[in-house]
Amino acid sequence: MERMPALFIGHGSPMNAIEDNEFTKNWRKIASEIPRPKAILVISAHWYTSGTRIMDEAHPRMIYDMYGFPKELYQVDYKASGTPELARFTKNLISRDTMIDNSWGYDHGACSVLHVMYPNADIPVYQLSVDGRANADIHFNTGKEIKRLRENGVLILGSGNVVHNLSIINMSMAGGYDWAYEFDNYMKDKITKHDYQDVVDYKKAGKSSALAVATPDHFFPLLYVLGATDGNDDISVYNDSCLMGSMSMTSYLFK
Ligand code: ZN
Repeated sequence: MERMPALFIGHGSPMNAIEDNEFTKNWRKIASEIPRPKAILVISAHWYTSGTRIMDEAHPRMIYDMYGFPKELYQVDYKASGTPELARFTKNLISRDTMIDNSWGYDHGACSVLHVMYPNADIPVYQLSVDGRANADIHFNTGKEIKRLRENGVLILGSGNVVHNLSIINMSMAGGYDWAYEFDNYMKDKITKHDYQDVVDYKKAGKSSALAVATPDHFFPLLYVLGATDGNDDISVYNDSCLMGSMSMTSYLFK
């Protein structure tokens, strides 16, 4: 079986699910260029829980966890099937206690990206939650533990944003604040040099880290993806940009 890449996508606005723009164009390009996965494991910023959880439902439902958007967005119904067998296999790879939890379904961190990348929804998808109580090292280590999935045809997809601070977002701003570029570029430099421990220790970036990672929910999915890579992976950077002041769309493919 072909070894699958690991992918981190900066998902940005939920509207990307239904928009055709510079970002979604690249998401489609990635899907067309990588091998077709047997299944996709999504680690989404939007399944932020107490403890690590995994879904093993055969047919996960949709979770419309966004508010005040146009009706069309709530009509996106991503009908992929789950994969109970791979979910249990994944649970067994993780050394921490991992609870089976089917109270969640496909959230917009997963769907907005997958609806663009794989619109036919014909590849099984399951999600692993981000434990909000765990520190950065634990997320990185869990990524290492699930690395083996790549040999089993599973695409590991982290969905978040390297820079994400909704409390100071400026919808009408085209680019990013200076500190947003500073943090995003710092991370890009560390990632492309394979200096992953400096990514885990993101607070070492200085003042920009407190603004960029005001809450770590959108940053932590990146750590799973980095954990699931090794020194042999080639790294490609996509959608290298900041927008609305306090968000970056920068995405990384490891293959
Ligand atoms: Zn989000």
